[in-house]
Amino acid sequence: MMHAALLFAVTIGCHSDFVQSSWALLQTAGYGQSVYESAAFAVRDADDRVRFVQWPSDHRQLAAFYKGRIPAHTFAIVHTHPNGHPLPSADDEATAQRLGMPVYVLTINSITRSNGKRIEQIVKGEWNPERCAQR
Ligand SMILES: [Zn+2]
Repeated sequence: MMHAALLFAVTIGCHSDFVQSSWALLQTAGYGQSVYESAAFAVRDADDRVRFVQWPSDHRQLAAFYKGRIPAHTFAIVHTHPNGHPLPSADDEATAQRLGMPVYVLTINSITRSNGKRIEQIVKGEWNPERCAQR
């Protein structure tokens, strides 16, 4: 894919609320072993903490859908992909463009995101925040 050429690394703190919540979300998708994707809104609270508002699971394979209002102070959509599909899909890119917020993709060994224009590699390799503590 041409997208691979657009990847570049961005560092993110492995103890951040964002990473901790992302790992918990990945857990609900069987750490990427499941064909069912889990998705959440990443919301920044008034005290500047990040929390995730998880979408109800609709048990459609290889997709996640949300109907309803986007929570206030949502700054990103985060969702899992089955392992081996680490990059945002064309739908993910279209969603990012339409909503004007980044769409993150989690798999067991990567975090990527699309802002609707380009794809960025946020984390490549192990990102389990529990193990991160030992480094
Ligand atoms: Zn996706």
